[in-house]
Amino acid sequence: MRIARFAHPGGMSFGAVEGNAAAGSSGLTVAEIDGLPFGQVTFTGQRWALADVRLLSPILPSKVVCVGRNYAEHAAEHGAQVPSEPLLFLKPSTAVIGPGDAIRLPPQSKQVEHEAELAVVIGPPGARRADREQAARAIFGYTCANDVTARDLQRSDGQWTRAKGFDSFCPLGPWIVTDLDPSDLEVRCEVNEEVRQLGRTKDMVFDIPALISYISHVMTLLPGDVILTGTPAGVGPLTAGDKVAVRITGIGTLSNQVVTLD
Ligand code: ZN
Repeated sequence: MRIARFAHPGGMSFGAVEGNAAAGSSGLTVAEIDGLPFGQVTFTGQRWALADVRLLSPILPSKVVCVGRNYAEHAAEHGAQVPSEPLLFLKPSTAVIGPGDAIRLPPQSKQVEHEAELAVVIGPPGARRADREQAARAIFGYTCANDVTARDLQRSDGQWTRAKGFDSFCPLGPWIVTDLDPSDLEVRCEVNEEVRQLGRTKDMVFDIPALISYISHVMTLLPGDVILTGTPAGVGPLTAGDKVAVRITGIGTLSNQVVTLD
């Protein structure tokens, strides 16, 4: 199932996106879910053409846990070794934006870059000190993410909170796919329709159950929390006016425009 969160004339809802996404958004509809999308969902009976609603970030996480250097080629492009354990950092929930929202370049940085990533969304009951099997059961689904990064501040600060944490630096979407094998998906980033990043999730250093288990031994993962699983090689600059798209096979395309924050 493809789970979206969307704004419609009556408010905001979760919904199931139905129809053939490969044929473009024109034939897609969204069926409104009553309440949260977890567990056995019930539908309200309301339905819209996707073109008649506005997609929002598909989830509002309590936290976004990110994994650095989880693809060997990307670690190498920054002259770094692959870590012996997952390298964790956080993005604040206020960094999250949805498909079509603007990435806002802050005046503090001269070098903001894209990082296309597969995002994992945690479902009930969450995960705390989970082994691999419990970790796998805690997965609700997958979506596309862009781990937008102020690369100059990442270098100069010595730690990554500011570089990774600006408002709008965590686009998520367009929706969550709940039935997907994540073990060998193509992760692609395009800027103005030019391919910048092209990797496969099979090249992750630590796989998804290993990441969830590792993180859950540090902090409890709540339903709705999001894990960004690292970026493949090819990260590069974003400038005002760019259109950046993260495309993952089996999920879809997350597109955002880039603007200057005055
Ligand atoms: Zn990243």
